[in-house]
Amino acid sequence: MVRISSINVFSFDIRLKEPFRISFQTFTHVENILVVIKTDSELIGYGEAAPFKPITGDSREEAIKFSSYAVGRLLGMDPTNIEEIHKTLEEIEKLTGLRSQTVKAAIDMACYDILGKMKNMPVYKILGAKKPNIIPNTITIGIKSIHETEKTAREYLEKFRENGLKRIKLKLSGNPRDDYERVMVVAKLFDGELTLDANQAYVDPDTAVRVFRKLYDELGDRIVLIEEPCPKGDLDKMKYVKEHVDIPIFADESAATYEDAVKIAKQNAADGINIKLQKAGGIFWGLKIAEIAHEYGLKLMVGCMLESGISISAGVHFATAVRDVINTDLDSDLTLPLDIVDENTRPLFKNGARIPKDAPGLGIKLKPWVLDLIESNLVVQRII
Ligand SMILES: [Mg+2]
Repeated sequence: MVRISSINVFSFDIRLKEPFRISFQTFTHVENILVVIKTDSELIGYGEAAPFKPITGDSREEAIKFSSYAVGRLLGMDPTNIEEIHKTLEEIEKLTGLRSQTVKAAIDMACYDILGKMKNMPVYKILGAKKPNIIPNTITIGIKSIHETEKTAREYLEKFRENGLKRIKLKLSGNPRDDYERVMVVAKLFDGELTLDANQAYVDPDTAVRVFRKLYDELGDRIVLIEEPCPKGDLDKMKYVKEHVDIPIFADESAATYEDAVKIAKQNAADGINIKLQKAGGIFWGLKIAEIAHEYGLKLMVGCMLESGISISAGVHFATAVRDVINTDLDSDLTLPLDIVDENTRPLFKNGARIPKDAPGLGIKLKPWVLDLIESNLVVQRII
């Protein structure tokens, strides 16, 4: 049996190429946590936490605090017994009153990485898929002026032409006229499909219905889905929009955890769920959300926070192995100016879809200078 011999936790920041704006926040950096799990059999697993309190429920400070308890409890455990690992993490939650979905996700993906390496299999195969499903992947444009939106769309069409870009995702602001115009300007430039994400911006569901119907009249099924139209947790509003618009409505912020997903499924409040490993608490919980979604006939998309190639790889293995996934939004590594992961080991972006590598585990390799920092065992505040 393999045993965990050490767990190291590092903070790292990566400056974004340009600020990324969504309806309620503007980001300038990736501000994440790298988790390195070593075993007594020389196998090493990598995981990443991407905390952002309004969405994942934990700040980076809280995530690091939670990880300090987790490290002590997990030493000596078998990392390939993922159910036991999660049981222990739940015990820590109960004992400390702390909860960090993102650290749970980081530990979970590091354990899957080790499990894959031990069995010499990529994680998607560990999850039961013979080959990865091919699912269109979006590249996201944040909130910008109409002119800047058009410019960015042109840039992406050029930059990702060889990747066969098929879908663009647009963040909505909640301003009906701006949102309509920005969607239309991209729809004219690009003959592919679109997904939209309101990030809770439409407080009044009737306004959302009006805008979405108008867009549906113009673009029909070219709009594949719309995420989180109304304030988080207000499931009546989401359900109202869902019942009055022909475009599938997906819950994102309102469907953070497994418990949230159960509530949405039972209330029939959405057509689908955006699973993010960082909200769910890792692949283990993502699989449980996928199960409940299937039981209630909900579709899935798999999305991301601002993540490096580590967590994106985990997302891609997960997304391409489970059923009912109609869209992925696993793009944050592709637009980073610099990744801590060797770009050649990240999942491919081919024919408009992310494809996991066939290498064992998550398939990723960290860059040599990142490995040097890990070996020096420094808990660094800013790697980049
Ligand atoms: Mg979203």
